[in-house]
Amino acid sequence: MTDDWPGFEEFPAEAELPPDGMSRRRFVQLLGASLALAGLGACMERPRERILPYVTSPPDVEPGTAEWYATSMTLGGYGIGLLVKSREGRPIKIEGNPDHPASLGAAGIYQQASLLQLYDPQRSKRLRQDRKPSDWQSFVSQFAPASLRGRVGQRGEGLHFLLEPTASPLLASLLGRLRDLYPNVSVHLYAPLAYSGQRTAAVTAFGAALMPLYDVRQADVILAVDSDFLGSGPFHLRYARDFAERRRPSSPDGSMSRLYAIEPVPSVTGTSADHRLRARAGDLEGILGAIAAQVILGPSGGPEGLPDAMAAVLDRYRRDERNPGWVPEIARDLAAAGHRSAVVVGESLPPRVHLLGHLVNLALGNIGTTIRYVKRPLIEPETGHDGLATLVEAMQAGAVHTLVMLDANPAYTAPAGLDFRRALGRVGETVSLGLFEDETGRLSQWHLPLAHYLESWDDCRAYDGTAGLVQPLIAPLYGGKTVAQVLGAFLGEGDWSSHDLVRAQWSGHWGKADAPERWNEAVQRGIVSDTAFSPLTPLPRWNDIAAALGPRLNQGAGGMELVFQADPCVYDGRFANNAWLQELPDPMTKLAWDNAALVSPATARRLRVETGDELRLRQGGQQLTIAALVHPGMADEVLGLRLGYGRGSGDESLAEGVGVNAYPLRMSETSYSSPGVTIDATGAHHQLARTQTHWGLEGRPIALHTTLAHYREQPNFAREERGSPLSLYRGPPLGSGDQWAMTIDLSACTGCSACVVACQAENNIPVVGKEGVLRSREMHWLRIDRYFTGDAEDPQVISQPMLCQHCEKAPCEYVCPVEATVHSPDGLNEMVYNRCVGTRFCSNNCPYKVRRFNWFDYNAELAETERMAKNPEVTIRARGVMEKCTFCVQRIRQAQIAAGLEGRELHDGEVRTACQQACPSQAIVFGSLTHPNAEVVRRRAEPRSYTVLHELGTEPRVRYLARLTNPNPALQRERDGG
Ligand code: SF4
Ligand code: SF4
Repeated sequence: MTDDWPGFEEFPAEAELPPDGMSRRRFVQLLGASLALAGLGACMERPRERILPYVTSPPDVEPGTAEWYATSMTLGGYGIGLLVKSREGRPIKIEGNPDHPASLGAAGIYQQASLLQLYDPQRSKRLRQDRKPSDWQSFVSQFAPASLRGRVGQRGEGLHFLLEPTASPLLASLLGRLRDLYPNVSVHLYAPLAYSGQRTAAVTAFGAALMPLYDVRQADVILAVDSDFLGSGPFHLRYARDFAERRRPSSPDGSMSRLYAIEPVPSVTGTSADHRLRARAGDLEGILGAIAAQVILGPSGGPEGLPDAMAAVLDRYRRDERNPGWVPEIARDLAAAGHRSAVVVGESLPPRVHLLGHLVNLALGNIGTTIRYVKRPLIEPETGHDGLATLVEAMQAGAVHTLVMLDANPAYTAPAGLDFRRALGRVGETVSLGLFEDETGRLSQWHLPLAHYLESWDDCRAYDGTAGLVQPLIAPLYGGKTVAQVLGAFLGEGDWSSHDLVRAQWSGHWGKADAPERWNEAVQRGIVSDTAFSPLTPLPRWNDIAAALGPRLNQGAGGMELVFQADPCVYDGRFANNAWLQELPDPMTKLAWDNAALVSPATARRLRVETGDELRLRQGGQQLTIAALVHPGMADEVLGLRLGYGRGSGDESLAEGVGVNAYPLRMSETSYSSPGVTIDATGAHHQLARTQTHWGLEGRPIALHTTLAHYREQPNFAREERGSPLSLYRGPPLGSGDQWAMTIDLSACTGCSACVVACQAENNIPVVGKEGVLRSREMHWLRIDRYFTGDAEDPQVISQPMLCQHCEKAPCEYVCPVEATVHSPDGLNEMVYNRCVGTRFCSNNCPYKVRRFNWFDYNAELAETERMAKNPEVTIRARGVMEKCTFCVQRIRQAQIAAGLEGRELHDGEVRTACQQACPSQAIVFGSLTHPNAEVVRRRAEPRSYTVLHELGTEPRVRYLARLTNPNPALQRERDGG
């Protein structure tokens, strides 16, 4: 070819280079190049102990066959049950465990992306002491009781442990034994996102540390007070599933629940609500207090027997003149729903707001219907960041001889005012155990690599108390140890494996005779049966509640307010090195590879700033510089700061230098919000990479939505708007067998983006980095479009998953000069990669803009470990081809082959696409149109089903179900200006 075309090279050298503006070093970092790891794949081993597949237990692993194993991942102290697909001893895909109460088969972004974390080539790889390599045996002999007692005495004076709040029965028992061995040992529990308001309020209200569990299926009216219960937290997968059940009427006479959300910064839950009401964080107590007063006191002044002190407290909230006009309407709606309502208060809120939430729920009789209380599964500190504050105090006083930090990174996350780094200098000996040699690891004398949960035996508890087992899918890649093993070393059990420790923990749980069988069953299912906590019926202590709330109103301070939040992608920073999560657009702002200070349009006008303008924030003697991002829906005079960025361990990790670290502005006592921040524009500008910069529907019927009331009047509104186009084209000839199709219910979709990461993991989708996103070259086959409608300052939000629509009359197919994109007999729009010459005509002619062009060989320099994350059932595309959603064709073909071998037809539901499988709200349904009883056929027949850009005559196989909302008629009239 080059002979015929002098000067033409099919693969010019420049094409292998990174895009302009990205250094070679950064590009290689992004791709995770690490030649040092060459050969590691050969060392890959299955765990030595007996692990048990979820379904069957073949005697030997057959090459080429996948096995599924149940395990659990712990985040925020609670476990979520998972199923992990393994091929030849390496985990390749993570999904939810349908038997687990917290997931019911779904998996969120962190669970999906934890696979990439396992294979991260920048994980900590060696145990070291004082910068020199060491080994586990040396560590064990140094810290075993016989040796350690010589330094901390018989009672463990000056021995301190720091770890996150945990619900693990194994860790609870090891910590108990440690206290027996060293009576003066101090155990500090701290996590930057662990808040104590809910616990403190429960102790005040009921005299016990209880946790509310919500059954949102039973609730007709829900009020969320800055609670993102559908989008984050250890329960959100289950709550999203339950909530969606009441949000999709299959017929116009079906019923729907109603959700009100009051919050300062838009969240997944807020944007899924029928009414999202903006409020400053400092005003939330007054607002909920006013609602409580209206509900409880009503026109009669309150029920008989209401303590006078309580009536007086509520009356003060009622008379607060700053109450917004919508308060009475929400209170009326809650009261009308009675015991079929629920008030959900965000975990980060202070105890007083939680107390008011308890009051409303008690007054409405919700306990036992929409809410049950169980004892809190976590071992946690009693107040806020106390765990760390008392430790730092002891460190500064020189009272800490040995500090052991287990999977904690306080050098990065410690609140401002606690100078953890300086205090560390006063500690005799320091040990850190971490997945990465992070900010804390680098400052410690001893550093040990932590075993990833996919390499570990462990246990956990779900939010309802259900115990789960963690079984490893692969032997530790870098000789990592679990938190339990390190605690075991301090107990003199340094030679115990993580398996020994877990087995010993659970051996007494069952009778001796059936213990082996029950253990096997628990490992196989990932769950220990019958361990959920029983619901309790607590008696409210009215006087204590009144005393805690009175005698004054706690009014929010004026001035600009900071609100700190976990980042919806990198969490508290622990996932900052995960390229899938860095590239995942923030579900609200669509920002990737960065964080920013979110401000409302009105506040931005007052400050005279625009998106990208750099702001200098000053508070409490601290300051930081961060770009502004103007975001409709923000409460005015509030600045939203996402935590988890600006990592600075001084290495060349992926997370290094991405975004700005907001922890230095966060105080212990105001870790959720703080008033009185000073803001100046620096005059500089920072480029933010966003995957969507235009969010108006411009009157086009793309993401259709209406109210339930209108749907009842005009059930066919979605179709009537469309008309039936004439077409000159004939569709492709379709076969007689299965005809694949998908429906996506916009009423159920919350925009959480779990499906995006699931698709990325399943289909070997590469990341392109910030520079690639700035050039709109992101490769996601599935994206979540987010549209704003209504008021420009305070809009309603619709999230619309957008993927290849698998059009029957596909515009891409007609224009491809080499027939690289063609139709399959079963209705798939297929890509033939080795035919594609990269003209991109197809992408230009695609009205949905779902085709992605592979500009660079993004996989060329992947580390050996990162290659292990690739799904062997899906091609890894080379540079220069167009790619897009395939409807997970590999899953279809596998199921067809399996059914063919058994001589039967496929059942409905047998093929589940990766996005469908992950979706917690079951918004996505996939199936064949030739199965008359298929769920996809039933959903397509709903009056609210429609196809996007129907007027173009493309006849997509993806249909959407229009979003329905169930607004309060009075507030809706107000919103409409009536
Ligand atoms: Fe989340 Fe995707 Fe499901 Fe929507 S469709 S709820 S974004 S997983
Ligand atoms: Fe991705 Fe498969 Fe869903 Fe298509 S069907 S968007 S390929 S997960």
